[in-house]
Amino acid sequence: MTTHGPTDIPAGFAGQHITVAGLGVSGISAARALAGLGAHVTVVDGGDGDKQQAAGRELEEWAAAQSASGKGGGGRRAGGITVRLGDGATLPEGTELVVTSPGWKPDSPLFAAAAAAGVDVVGDVEIAWRLRGPDAAAWLGVTGTNGKTTTVRMLASILAAEGLHTLAVGNIGTPIIDVVLGQGKDGARPYDVLAVELSSYQLHWAPSLRAHSAAVLNIAPDHLDWHGSMAEYAADKGRIYEGNTVACVYNVADKATEDLVREADVEEGCRAIGFTLGTPGPSQLGVVEGILVDRAFVENRQKQAQELAEISDIAPGSGPPAPHNIANALAAAALARAFGVRPAAVRDGLRAFHPDAHRIQHIADIDGITYIDDSKATNTHAAEASLAAYEHIVWIAGGLAKGATFDELVQKSAARLRGVVLIGADRALIREALARHAPDVPVVDLDRTDTGAMPEAVREATRLAEPGDTVLLAPACASMDMFVNYNKRGDAFADAVGELTARDH
Ligand code: ADP
Repeated sequence: MTTHGPTDIPAGFAGQHITVAGLGVSGISAARALAGLGAHVTVVDGGDGDKQQAAGRELEEWAAAQSASGKGGGGRRAGGITVRLGDGATLPEGTELVVTSPGWKPDSPLFAAAAAAGVDVVGDVEIAWRLRGPDAAAWLGVTGTNGKTTTVRMLASILAAEGLHTLAVGNIGTPIIDVVLGQGKDGARPYDVLAVELSSYQLHWAPSLRAHSAAVLNIAPDHLDWHGSMAEYAADKGRIYEGNTVACVYNVADKATEDLVREADVEEGCRAIGFTLGTPGPSQLGVVEGILVDRAFVENRQKQAQELAEISDIAPGSGPPAPHNIANALAAAALARAFGVRPAAVRDGLRAFHPDAHRIQHIADIDGITYIDDSKATNTHAAEASLAAYEHIVWIAGGLAKGATFDELVQKSAARLRGVVLIGADRALIREALARHAPDVPVVDLDRTDTGAMPEAVREATRLAEPGDTVLLAPACASMDMFVNYNKRGDAFADAVGELTARDH
């Protein structure tokens, strides 16, 4: 860990010619915000189907109405928006800055053209960061392959319990640029602190972001098609620690996260803080006899430990927390404590926290069998955490593998599997891994990828289950071969469980 002085890049978007890549949710939000600040925006998109045409028209009309009424942020006149469809590769003449969208790979031709022209490429987080005023809310950042949303929500709940005005900002809800622009506007009470979920994509394109404190929860292979390699993926995640002022929070059980702290360039006095499911050492938070304890933010960390909460305080309405959610709670507590939050607020915040749907969501107990929806387990690392949380499992798995292999996951989980029901396009990959590492586990292979496969999967899983078992939807795969998204996959599971009747047992 090395230290350095603060960096501050002024906003200055008024009058600039800015190209926004992609006419999606984040591109549209960036275009509106920048035009509102007086920039001249061109949105480019390679597609030119009906959907893009309609979105483009709507955006241009919005911009025209804004300039006609003379509206713009900070008393500036709104700049215009031009939409160019059918060519996402050529850099528009006169571009001074390119703003990316998450779906665009770093090697996209548009960015190569920008680099060749000496034009910076940045993402929505960078724009939001540059737009912050001098008294803006501090950012507590969270990244990792899995657990970001859960941790950010736990953190926001803890900060709120401390009486701070705060918001969980992330991939869902208000886009981050809009949050920053809304700060204190129209009489709104400014935020004291933001709990910010940051994806590796966003970090890749946010060179001047400097969080107060930040956590990397874990690093496992995911999205490698976007980043190019594991090393580049990890390096992008590590960017979250750059310039931290108080704490870099890492996972003691995941050495890669600690390595990133060591490599980070931080402010003088910033500390490395570990979290562990075991007994914490000095400068760590951990667990002792069912109690979350802090040996980092105490006066004498060699001798003292501060009790924060009991494990049973974590979302008490949702049953005993899975181990990975205890880890997430510790990471959230570490960030909150770095911000000066009292121990009692950590406990109260964790008690008030409600997990989002489709993340280890308890659906029903029927005839002694528990049904859990972890549809959000869209990669093997997440599914591994999920499978580790139950003793006897009938596992519903499969979907789009995104280039993953399943040997390690199956090897680690084999002893817990009562049976497996496979669905989706890439189910053969899981079936083969099961044949290699768990040949005695019964497998039902559903040869269909239509949405209607879920009720059949749930019925088959129920048939394989014994009283006391858990039927766990933790697919380890993306959902888009069968469903619109993981939410719909989880809903289909819950509906299918709802349709179960006694005669299915
Ligand atoms: P993200 O926002 O990073 O996708 P979520 O909080 O939405 O993370 O959780 C996604 C899934 O990842 C969960 O459904 C669970 O299966 C798994 N998960 C959550 N936290 C962890 C963790 N700390 N380690 C491993 N897997 C986790």
